[in-house]
Amino acid sequence: MPFSTRDLVDWDHRYLWHPFTQMQEWLAEPPLVIESGEGNYLIDTDGNRYLDGVSSLWCNVHGHRKRELDDALKAQCDRIAHSTMLGLANVPATVLAKRLVEITPDSVQRVFYSDAGATAVEIALKLALQYWSLRGEEQRTRFVSLSEAYHGDTLGAVGVGYSDAFHRFYRPVLRPSRQIRPPHYFRWIEGQTSEQALRSAIADAEQVLDACGGVTAAIIVEPLMQGAAGMWAQPPGYLPAIADLARRHGTLLICDEVATGFGRTGEMFAVQHEGVQPDMMCLGKGITGGYLPLAATMISEEIFDRFLAPHDRFEAFFHGHTYTGNPLASAVAVANLELFDSEKVLDRVRQRAGQLTALLREYCQPLPHVGDIRQWGLMAGIELVRDRERRTAYDPAERIGLHVIREARRHGVIIRPLGNVIILMPPLSITEDELDTLARVTAAAIEFATASR
Ligand code: PMP
Repeated sequence: MPFSTRDLVDWDHRYLWHPFTQMQEWLAEPPLVIESGEGNYLIDTDGNRYLDGVSSLWCNVHGHRKRELDDALKAQCDRIAHSTMLGLANVPATVLAKRLVEITPDSVQRVFYSDAGATAVEIALKLALQYWSLRGEEQRTRFVSLSEAYHGDTLGAVGVGYSDAFHRFYRPVLRPSRQIRPPHYFRWIEGQTSEQALRSAIADAEQVLDACGGVTAAIIVEPLMQGAAGMWAQPPGYLPAIADLARRHGTLLICDEVATGFGRTGEMFAVQHEGVQPDMMCLGKGITGGYLPLAATMISEEIFDRFLAPHDRFEAFFHGHTYTGNPLASAVAVANLELFDSEKVLDRVRQRAGQLTALLREYCQPLPHVGDIRQWGLMAGIELVRDRERRTAYDPAERIGLHVIREARRHGVIIRPLGNVIILMPPLSITEDELDTLARVTAAAIEFATASR
């Protein structure tokens, strides 16, 4: 390697600003610099190997340096890296669009590409607003979303995922959505059973929609699992109830599957567990197997049709990004979908998900500071509490999550906390032995970190 670890650490500290990072804390110690990857492992500049327990921020599907994906990328490099979709079509983006329509619910039939989960959401929100305006229902300008929802970091996405702690600085230019309380809230905060929480959450959503359904452009939800909130699981029945409410109030349903899509929950898409047919779906992360930035907003034909008009009415969707439908990313995405079939990925995810449930029950559940474990497929959150009986949270200043992941790292496992919740979200290609290691090291790290403070 032409650069020493020391130089790289020095340059990182001198020139970089990391996402979602308090840089004062970051600058206090040297970062791990990743140089390569192999299967489900990340390898640093000193040759140390780490199990990638969060699939490189929830996006890696088949492991790193997957031959079929590497080959698809190289083959596309030999043709063309990029050409615009403004005024031109390209081969991989067209093939991918057909495949995406085939594998998503029948209710969505059109693909609008972009390059991040946040932009896929931004596009869905803008489409909803324009759709209603074109239908002559200009009053439908509000969005309804779940408390502690996360839909990305651009301003529109922040509006539907507003949290005062993170977003108060932008409040003057935001119009936060009407929030409904997720079933998790009633279960965890108020101690209700899962069934009671489900009923309370539906009643809350009904109340909000009764009040503002007529001015609502869309309800946006992360189906089955609110990831960034700290893995807040929804019991079966919640999503269909929300879909039903959307229909009754004549509003659109946007399902943000950026985190849950592409096999993560054991079905290709989370909505398929519940047979829900959204009006729009947001896809990202795993769409390229975790290789390249690509996102897609899937749209119903009813919405699409409303935008058809003579040019001089200026009713087109005036939105696009330079790299919309990038051929390299699209070619890898097509190869990614082929692997789902050829390697029977969904069957494997279901097996591993069952194994993960058992491992978490065996290793983590008995630990005195584990307050709750939530899981859908291969996405899981372990909530740490100071006092299990009373569900007393650790003070954020204690940085309990950080202590856990540092300890795990000493044992060769990379994981990342969300506050006091330890997230496990490995590549879908994780093997039986690797999953065992992930759960065992995580449990030991929790035990160590919680015992020593
Ligand atoms: N929606 C959901 C549900 C997400 O989990 C995320 C990212 N974690 C996003 C949107 C934003 O995606 P991106 O980081 O690619 O903008």
